[in-house]
Amino acid sequence: MSKQKRFFLQEDQIPTQWYNIQADMVTKPMPPLNPATKQPLKPEDLYPIFAEELSRQELDQTHQWIDIPDAVREMYAYYRSTPLVRAYGLEKALDTPAHIYFKNESVSPVGSHKLNSALPQAYYCKQQGVTNITTETGAGQWGCALSYAAKVFGLEAAVYQVKISYEQKPYRRSIMQTYGAQVTASPSMSTRAGKDILTREPNCQGSLGTAISEAIELALNTPNCKYTLGSVLSHVALHQTIIGLEAEKQMEMAGEYPDTIIACFGGGSNFAGIAFPFMRHNILEGKTTRFIAAEPASCPKLTRGVFQYDFGDEAGYTPLLPMFTLGHNFMPANIHAGGLRYHGAGVIVSQLLKDKYMEAVDIKQLDSFEAGMLFSRAEGIIPAPESCHAIAATINEAKRCKETGESKVILFNLSGHGLIDMSAYDQYLSGSLQNYVVSDEDVQRNISQLEKVI
Ligand SMILES: *Cc1c(COP(=O)(O)O)cnc(C)c1O
Repeated sequence: MSKQKRFFLQEDQIPTQWYNIQADMVTKPMPPLNPATKQPLKPEDLYPIFAEELSRQELDQTHQWIDIPDAVREMYAYYRSTPLVRAYGLEKALDTPAHIYFKNESVSPVGSHKLNSALPQAYYCKQQGVTNITTETGAGQWGCALSYAAKVFGLEAAVYQVKISYEQKPYRRSIMQTYGAQVTASPSMSTRAGKDILTREPNCQGSLGTAISEAIELALNTPNCKYTLGSVLSHVALHQTIIGLEAEKQMEMAGEYPDTIIACFGGGSNFAGIAFPFMRHNILEGKTTRFIAAEPASCPKLTRGVFQYDFGDEAGYTPLLPMFTLGHNFMPANIHAGGLRYHGAGVIVSQLLKDKYMEAVDIKQLDSFEAGMLFSRAEGIIPAPESCHAIAATINEAKRCKETGESKVILFNLSGHGLIDMSAYDQYLSGSLQNYVVSDEDVQRNISQLEKVI
């Protein structure tokens, strides 16, 4: 055996703290606002919806490192560290001088990075005596992770799944039910938010924004129940930094440091997870790694949205968040990367993009699947449709290296596998998939409806 292909950490080398980039940011994110008073939120304001510890983590701009609770570390150890893999197969297929690495988060029991935050969220709820948790899910990845985490810590889970995904990805529903969760297609008639939208639009296929409204409403109306969210929020980004902290040690084992780091982008959690631990060296030590978020061309909040205060959900139940957004009424096309169909972006990544610590590219649906096919054939792993966006962006960078002859070190996050998404691959293979690109009018119309807060 000549060259080492996979890099693992021993159990006792797995990081014991998460990294809070807010502490190191030169320009801190602006505060979330109470929509009624327009006053900055305090952690206590979030307690009705979220577990208290998560509310504190959400607004923590001072502590650089946060201890991972022992009970969470115990559960992480069942699947972490995840492998860092040198993608020799992909390099060869592209005939590129680039060194391509990927962090394989698809090996978690539920098949994606989402479990990294589901476990601590369920744990902190349990710890304060909560009995029930609610959430929304798009493609079902977050719903699966949360359903399992709820079971681990002895909580009841109720999941609103975006209707289009409920129908496109029936096995994700079965997985959630296997873990013991109650699953409802959203929009549903079980909440006011759901009824409102179904009255306006009886055939509505749903969106993450609507499903979030329904889950929050259920949490507010159920005793001893909290809401949880799988992306967008700063505490989710915090938990996901376990990915990059491991990768940092693993890249060191490989004897390299990334020039470019790439992840797909829905609300920003897997991007934050792989990027932030490395970005701290850009901020604190002047390293010059490039960070690229790959979003779908059908939901281009980073590349074509505005930086504005907006709601995180369709009905306007959430605080106002300062973020890149397409407007909370934006209804993304029915692409298969359900986890990327979200109108906004987390407040930390939004500030970092505004301050040019990172870049964003948009990827068309067909290009994402073409990249997924190439990767499957070169590396054997069938990527989630979301992850295909990161692979497409990686391939673009690797091809650029071929043109310039540079052996750049590229690290991307493989956020999940696509084995439950084969109907999407089927459609790609049969030629029935299409591209969706949003028109400028559509972007402008939704953005112009936003209330100007700043
Ligand atoms: C949810 C999901 C995403 C998108 O969410 P982020 O918070 O942006 O990471 C990406 N990939 C997979 C596999 C997912 O399940």
